[in-house]
Amino acid sequence: MRPWEANIRRVAPYVPGEQPKGEKLIKLNTNENPYPPAPGVREAMERMDCDWFRKYPDPAATVLIKALSKAYEADEERIFVGVGSDDVIAVAFMTFFNSHKPILFPDVSYSFYKVWADLFKIPYETPALDMEFRIKKEDYYRENGGIIFPNPNAPTGLLMPLSEAEDIIAHNQESVVIVDEAYIDFGGESAIRLTEKYENLLVVQTFSKSRSMAGMRIGCAFGHPELIRRLNDVKYSYNSYTMNIPSLVLGAKALEDERYFMDTLKKIRCTRETAKGWLKELGFTFPDSMANFIFASHRERRAEEIYMALREQNIFVRYFKQPRIDNYLRITIGTDEEMEKLYRFLKEYL
Ligand code: PMP
Repeated sequence: MRPWEANIRRVAPYVPGEQPKGEKLIKLNTNENPYPPAPGVREAMERMDCDWFRKYPDPAATVLIKALSKAYEADEERIFVGVGSDDVIAVAFMTFFNSHKPILFPDVSYSFYKVWADLFKIPYETPALDMEFRIKKEDYYRENGGIIFPNPNAPTGLLMPLSEAEDIIAHNQESVVIVDEAYIDFGGESAIRLTEKYENLLVVQTFSKSRSMAGMRIGCAFGHPELIRRLNDVKYSYNSYTMNIPSLVLGAKALEDERYFMDTLKKIRCTRETAKGWLKELGFTFPDSMANFIFASHRERRAEEIYMALREQNIFVRYFKQPRIDNYLRITIGTDEEMEKLYRFLKEYL
């Protein structure tokens, strides 16, 4: 051990999904959208002026906040933005999860929550999902320092009915409840409207999935103005979270094209439902996903084996070597052509 190592913080880092590059590969491993962003985004990008980059971006992210305010019919003072929802959630952890009481999140969930909790030295407990991978709301009725869960959950894809999410929020008015809606647009009802009723609710969304802009790093949160003010206090003190100019401008542009947004979502939902049909036919079981991925386990073949066989074909899906879920694959919904290739290979292979 080096002399200075005794003083440093050690973390078990987050392990992101692979980002293989290449023309021919089929990338179904990190829940990106297979379709491009709205056409207006490309046009706006072509009109961008390099001279803009000489100056610092607007720290208040006004153009994006105004666009979100219009699109979601929410007051500007109720909106926060950041460099992807990962950073929005990180700022929220730093801001709201500060007591000595443990925060709560599901045992099978977005693996970053544990990483942030460790990093920010926040104690946590992870109530187990039931046998069908559902979140049991009663597990969240105990004393806590805050709550976060994705809805739909990841990597299961299961949606909790909004009324049950509301029960959790209503039962916990002494702590902040964060609902991570990274995948809500693919089939659920958002809790955004509930932020008008519950001061302790923060709803986080992202442009990475339904709006096809993972590479731009755009995330946002909706909540009571007091929550948003607190987030901004931490953000400005921290200041690595200021969004860059292209993300602000292009993110705002993406919100203008509601028709394209709805059409893309419809296509992905339709491909997902078709995939559920053939996965079942091939012997897979899976929770009924409402997200843009399916979390599937084969009745006979090991998930890791299938994952490796797919890799050899240049088809990437996500495999988690993690207790309880190590016989599952998380398959992102791609285009119909990509899913067809996956189907054809699996049919031969299994
Ligand atoms: N929450 C959940 C549940 C996710 O799966 C992801 C994507 N990995 C994120 C948040 C973060 O997304 P982003 O930082 O791209 O907005």
